[in-house]
This record gives sequence, C-alpha cells and structure tokens, in this order.
Amino acid sequence: MTLKPPDFKHVNYLWDDETASRLDDVERLRYRSNILGADQRITNTGGGNTSSKISMTDPLSGKEVDVLWVKGSGGDLRTSTRANFASLYMDKFLSLENIYNKAEVKGAKTEIEDEMVDMYRHTTFGLNPAASSIDTPLHGLIPFRHVDHMHPISVIAIAASKDQERLTQQIFEEEVGWVPWQRPGFDLGLVMKEKLGQDPDLKGLVMGQHGLINWADEDKACYELTLSLIEKAARYIERHDKGEKTFGGQRYESLDEKASREILIKLLPKLRGIVSQANRFIGTVHVTESVLQFVNSVDAQRLAEIGTSCPDHFLRTKIKPLYVDWNPQEESHEELIEKLEKGVIAYRADYTSYYEACKHPDSPAMRDPDPTVILIPGVGLIAWGKNKSESRVTAEFYSLAIEVMRASEAISEYQGLPRQEAFDIEYWLLEEAKLKRMPPEKEFARNLVVVIGAGSGIGKATAYRVAKEGAHVVCADLSEEAAQATARELIEIYGVGIGVAGTGLSGCGPAIGLSVDITKRESVRAMFENVILAFGGVDNVIITAGVFVPPDKQGYIPDDKWALTYSINVTGPYLVADEAKKIWQVQGLKASLVITTSANAAVAKQGSFAYDTSKAAANHLVRELAIELSPLVRVNGLAPATVVEGSSMFPRDRVISSLTKYNLPFDESENTESLREKLAMFYAQRTLTKSPITLADQAEVAYLLSSSKFSKTTGQIISVDGGLHEAFLR
Ligand SMILES: [Zn+2]
Repeated sequence: MTLKPPDFKHVNYLWDDETASRLDDVERLRYRSNILGADQRITNTGGGNTSSKISMTDPLSGKEVDVLWVKGSGGDLRTSTRANFASLYMDKFLSLENIYNKAEVKGAKTEIEDEMVDMYRHTTFGLNPAASSIDTPLHGLIPFRHVDHMHPISVIAIAASKDQERLTQQIFEEEVGWVPWQRPGFDLGLVMKEKLGQDPDLKGLVMGQHGLINWADEDKACYELTLSLIEKAARYIERHDKGEKTFGGQRYESLDEKASREILIKLLPKLRGIVSQANRFIGTVHVTESVLQFVNSVDAQRLAEIGTSCPDHFLRTKIKPLYVDWNPQEESHEELIEKLEKGVIAYRADYTSYYEACKHPDSPAMRDPDPTVILIPGVGLIAWGKNKSESRVTAEFYSLAIEVMRASEAISEYQGLPRQEAFDIEYWLLEEAKLKRMPPEKEFARNLVVVIGAGSGIGKATAYRVAKEGAHVVCADLSEEAAQATARELIEIYGVGIGVAGTGLSGCGPAIGLSVDITKRESVRAMFENVILAFGGVDNVIITAGVFVPPDKQGYIPDDKWALTYSINVTGPYLVADEAKKIWQVQGLKASLVITTSANAAVAKQGSFAYDTSKAAANHLVRELAIELSPLVRVNGLAPATVVEGSSMFPRDRVISSLTKYNLPFDESENTESLREKLAMFYAQRTLTKSPITLADQAEVAYLLSSSKFSKTTGQIISVDGGLHEAFLR
C-alpha cells in the first residue's frame, strides 16, 4: 500500500505545485531540500542530502549534458541555498568507477575511498566552487533522476534495532531493501547500485544504523515517496508504542519549573567550568516532555550507555552522553554537583580508554574527552558546543536520539554502532583534514561577553566590536527596547545559527538583549540569571553605562542628582562586579571586567564635580576590584573623554550649551549630529592628537582590555582621550 499526502500524520507535507512551477530545475532541488529539512522527523539539522540529475547546456561544447546536482559538504537542507549544491558532469563522474576499480585494495575504509573525494573536483560542472560530500556516490551511482537520503527518526529506529533486516522486510515488504551499516563512500554507492541491479523494482533502501535512501524519476514523486516511507515506518512504530511503559516506565518525577530553574542557575556555571578545562563551551538547556520522560525513566541509564547510533548524531553528541544518577526527589543540589564532578572524571577516563582501544597507528591525537551532553533526572538535558549554534545542534541531536531509542525499543531492541566503527568515523583522517583546514578561531570564539549599556553609544559600538571577534553577546541596557534592538542587529549580521533546539531563553542565537538597572542588586542578579540560562556562564563583562547630570544655570547640583550620579557611576559597577564574582568563582575560568570611567576623573574643574568625583571613585574601584577578584578576573578601566558622536551623554541641549559656552558659531536649525560634529572638532583641537574621538576608538580599547592581548594587565586605567596632558595619570 502506498500512502498518499492527505493521509500523512507523522510528517509535514509541504510541496506546493504553484511554488515549484515558478522554479528552474536546480531551484526545485533547493526547494525540495528546504521543505524536507524543515521537519526534524524527516531529517536532522545538517543531516541527509538530496540530488537531481539535470540536463544542461555545457558551457564548453554547447551540447546538452547530464549534470548531477547534489547537496555539497557542510550546510543544512532546511537552510540550503543554491550555493550549497555541488554540480558534477555525470559522464565524468561515472568514469570514476574505472579508477576506483583499478585500485589494488578497495572497499570501505580503504585509501582509494578517501582519494575518490578529491577526484570529484575534476568532474565539476560550471566552475561551481561547492565541495562534494562523501555521500556523492550514493546519489551518482543510483540510475534515477532524483534521490533523497534522509535521517528520519522512524527509519533510524528500524535501522538501529537488533532485527533491522527483518523489520525492514516486514514494514516495507518488496518496496524497500536493506543494506548493512557501512561508512559512506564510493564503495557504499557501489553496494547500493548492485542491490538495485539485483532488484530493479526497489524504490529505496534502509541503511543499517544510519537512515533511508530512495529515488524516483520525478522530483515531486521522489519527495512524496520519501514522506510516504517515513510515514509508513512511523505508523508501524505508533502501533507498537509502549505508552506509559516506554523506557521501562518512570523512576523519578520532574521538578517543577521554579525548582528546576534554581538548580540550573546554580549548576550551569559549575558545569561549564568543569567541561571547559581544555576548551570553553557554550551551553544549551533543552527540556521537553519527551526529554523528561527519558531522563526520569528506569531504562535511561542503560540506554544512555549504549549511546547514539546514527553517525551524524554522535559526531556532535559524542558516542554517549553523561547520565547522572541523581534522585531529584530525595537528593540535594550539593549531592548533584558532587555526582556530576565524579561523573565527568569517570567519563573522561572512559573516553580515554575508548580512544586507546580503538586507535590506529595513524589516528589523530585524542580530542577533548569531556561530555557534550549531560542528562539529569527531574531537570532535563544540557548540551555543550563551541558556539550557540553548535550547542543547539547537539541538544537537537540527542533529543532526536531519544526519539529513535523510544521507537526502536517499542518495536525491537535498540543497539548502538560498534565502538570501532564509531571511532573510525570520529577519527576519520578525512574529517581530521577538514578540521585542519578550518580557519583559526577568533579571539572571542567560545566566549560570552556581557556589555552593559549596549543600547547606545560606546556600549553599542563595543557590542558590535566584540561580536566581530566571535563573541556571544549579551546586550544589556536600562532600556530593554534599546538592548534588544542592538541584539537584533547583531543577529541580522551573524545569523541565528542552524540548530533547532533549546527551550526558553536557551533557544537564542549568538546575541540577546536584556534589561538591567545597575543601581539595583536584584535587577543585576536577575540579568545574570538570565545570562546563565541562555548560555551557561559568563566570561567578560564590559560596563559602559554611566550618567552625566548637568548642573543648573547657577552651577548647582541638587542632592538627589548627586546621589543618582554616584549610584549609576560607582555603586552600579560595584554591584555588577559583586554579582558576576559569584558566577566567576563557581565557574573557575579566567575572566575580565572593564569599567568605563572618564578622563574627567583626573581633571579638577568647575561645573561637573558630581560626575568628576564619581569617576575618580570609579577609577579607584577598578584598582580595588583588581585586587579583590584576582587571580581569576582582570579588572581594568577605560577612560574616554568627550566622545560627542552619537553619545547619549551629549543630548542636543548639552551640545548647544557647550557651543554657546565656547562661543562657537552654529545655527539653531542644524540637526543634532552636525552640531555634535562642530563640538567634536573643537574638543579635538584641545588634544595632543588633534582628531575627534569616536565611538569606535573607545570600543576598540574596551575590546582589547578584555582580550588575551592584555592578559597581563589588571588594575589599570587606559585613557582614550586623544591625549589630554592634564588628564595624565601619575
Ligand atoms: Zn547520512
């Protein structure tokens, strides 16, 4: 029985004839890929590939030739554009079979197999720079016009079951065949071609421990076939679902939202510190009904130990997660932390012995042995990755693995990939070469920077500057709207990433906007709690928030304005430092704090003494904190002077009153920015460098002071004032 679109319950049918009819053949492939990738039950982020063999005009001969368009290396089906597809001359690609066959030693995991990947470049059609993936032969060697290779939950569940071959036969009958697990490559393509040669009526194959591949001569038919096969498998699984008996039933209960939040806030920085000893990680918290059902279950420990089975999953999740056997109803937070610490130590030892047992003479050196997925009964799943996107992908993959295990245990018995096979994927020389080709990580990659005052002026410029260095940025500001606007702009530049996971704040991209009133401890604490829930910890804090309250016409500052000035310029940075300190100490990783003071701190003059004395206090706060927070945290001050450009410290009336004070000619009708420019030019003339001081000048030094370039500097104030000799610090 072939299932048709209106019957689908377990997949989203998204094909639209109207949309497809407006596209050329390559764009139709892109379209098909996007709608397949849009449903995680069909394939995971970054997983699977699609192809079309398209007749095109050869730019060299002018003749019609067949071109294989196939999703290239890297990228993701859901978000793919045309640029993600490689294009190969079909005749040239097919001639590679001769080269492969001439090799003396051939088959999976042989040298010739890895060499073939470089050969694909010789077959490139149309100067397309997209690199072909190792899955290319699975598409090129199948003699149908369209091929989909997916990693559907329901089919991996069959493919990861003990009796996968029998189940394939039972569920799909004559329609779909089965091939045992084999690492993707040219040989697997030949195995599939042979299978199809023996049984030309086959519409697809279940790939042991891996996924599904199927084909058709029309693209829409191929799409519908893919969905119908996944639907068929999902229905079979649904009929066998164990309901409350899933995973052996429940052993623990979930904590309520408040208790769970409290645990996460305490736990995440600690955990981040533990797993970030070799390299820093960014966290994602993923808590869904299905994750909770798993972590609370009787079988969780046994199944977690078997690990993930689809190679695509375990490259991110590592072969297995760390399951912490903690009783959320009876044991304390302290016991949880103790068990976690012991658990990570045991995990590292276990990983090291797996490496030692499976390594080959030419294997790359052992990679980071820390777990990337941590499962806590009552609480949920915590994933770690080198950036937010990666950690979201990791969380997504393990939550998909949970679905696979649930389904597989419903219809059979779940089994993992043999350890040696897993190792050979994880430490594949080809993958190692890919890793080596990656550009070096940026200064603030893997780092979380909180910029307080990021809604405007120096703070906003600083948020932009650190983001450029790969930082995850928390844009904090008294104005939530302004904070979120800066975060949105950063997301527009850097993208939200590819993973589809993370619950609550944790589902964020590389930047978020939060409101904070630094004069109130509760507000500062609440902000940091949200930072922890979103990213797992804190590395660098940069405070640019400050206030200048101008005196009245008689040069008088009322008491409440004096108090406000001190509360924002001195108490504020102190409260931020004091709250951040608690996280830094639990996390135990090197960190930094930059406080923006002012050149005014060192220059006595008339008319601004609330501001000037508050900034002098802030200078000394820097020194005190440098001692207080050492050796973990460096604390430095940035002392700007008269940044007029785009500054909220220079509203229109202050600019006008300054221009008047210095007898500078201006027109009342001029816009504020042009008036600011006039004032900036005047101020510039008073400096040694004679150039206006910009926001970018300040942001650069805020960034440098936080960076490793100043790793031996603490307790210092760096002036960025164009050179004001009266502000020289002695
Ligand atoms: Zn695959």
